Amino acid sequence: MIKRSFLGLIKPRLQYDMLDGSTTAPEQIPASSVIVLFLPNMKRKNMPPVLKTGDAVKKGQQLFSCQGTNEEFVVSPASGTISSIEPFIGGFGKTYDKISIDVSQDQTVDANVDNLKKAPSLSTLQKVLANIPGNLPVDAMANTDITINTIVVNCAEADLQVTTSQLIVKSKIEDIKEGVKVIKKATNVPNVSLAVPEHLQSAVASIGLNIKKVSLDYPSADPKLLMKDAFGTVVTAGKNCEDHGTLFISAEAVANVGNAYKTGNLPVQKMVTVINKDGSKKMVSALIGTPVKDVLSFLKIKVNENDRIIFGGPMKGTAIFSFDQPVMCDTDGIIIQDKDDIPEISDYPCINCGECVRICPANVPVNLLIRFLEAGQYENAQIMYDLDSCIECGLCSYVCVSKMPVYQYITLAKHELAQIRTAEANNA
Ligand code: SF4
Ligand code: SF4
Repeated sequence: MIKRSFLGLIKPRLQYDMLDGSTTAPEQIPASSVIVLFLPNMKRKNMPPVLKTGDAVKKGQQLFSCQGTNEEFVVSPASGTISSIEPFIGGFGKTYDKISIDVSQDQTVDANVDNLKKAPSLSTLQKVLANIPGNLPVDAMANTDITINTIVVNCAEADLQVTTSQLIVKSKIEDIKEGVKVIKKATNVPNVSLAVPEHLQSAVASIGLNIKKVSLDYPSADPKLLMKDAFGTVVTAGKNCEDHGTLFISAEAVANVGNAYKTGNLPVQKMVTVINKDGSKKMVSALIGTPVKDVLSFLKIKVNENDRIIFGGPMKGTAIFSFDQPVMCDTDGIIIQDKDDIPEISDYPCINCGECVRICPANVPVNLLIRFLEAGQYENAQIMYDLDSCIECGLCSYVCVSKMPVYQYITLAKHELAQIRTAEANNA
């Protein structure tokens, strides 16, 4: 499936939004009677599933994809009974089990959560806090092939219009402080810095860490750009920040790690910026797994035929096609777009105007790259036209006068190449 970016709501000046000063707390979405979890099952192949309809699950229980492997699981954010398990195909054809859970009135907590009362450990972060709000990068933390020597707590937003991180910083500073201590202990990483938008610097001063300023100009908060601008390290094409020893963790994930160890409870409430058709915004807190229809119903937002719902922000978000789509640990934004405001995507050819090249922060020759991507020549695009240098900001699509879905071509190409590399590695 091709990802689309959604540019119709973007203001002419491409700056991250600042949180409205009067917003100090999110509105609480009432607990749903049924929650939905997506459990990846890419590695199941011929192995039997572990779960079946009617199974009881506990809050904090690891729900595994298949017997005999501990690799793919989700941690249940609530206790209840599995009411259905259906196949679900996500972006780029990735397959999942869509698990619906009838949430019980009285919550029973899995013994797994008791680990939060012990000394912080990488194992607990991986097994208990793998799916906490904020998307803790547990795989990178546990990857023994790389050495992380710096952690950056990213207090800036991942996309335009979203203000989720800012509310976390303003409302959970003590939890962030605690989370930094816990993560340092669990990982033994010596250096921790904060990446903070200028207007929030006084809010984080009490944490006492090295602060790196982030400009409000999009996409300054992108980790690869921050590596260059704030740390003076250019991330090699095709590599990521972890390969250079630096791991970025969202402020929300760090706050939730801190809260988990402070209280001994599993954090399950995701902070989300909901942007309505008229551009008005609400900050809400929803249980992980809450179907989007319950969020919309609580906020009295009507979605008509051919309107669009986007998870994420306007530059990098993804359209969703089911009202059952749940709030997940990385759902920072939900945008509802009127059918008349959906940006046009055309099949006009590239006219070589160069706008995309001028705006690209990674200096990718996008006008040349796009020709290879349109022809499906992904390996040539990678070797000859710097596909791997792209940081996936979406600016090229935003400025394209031919309204070509350039960003979507790029993400598709990267996905296809990753598939090829995985297949080659498996066959080696
Ligand atoms: S998405 Fe487009 S503008 Fe952004 S880095 Fe990639 S090629 Fe450049
Ligand atoms: S902005 Fe669009 S039309 Fe212009 S060079 Fe880039 S891809 Fe081609």
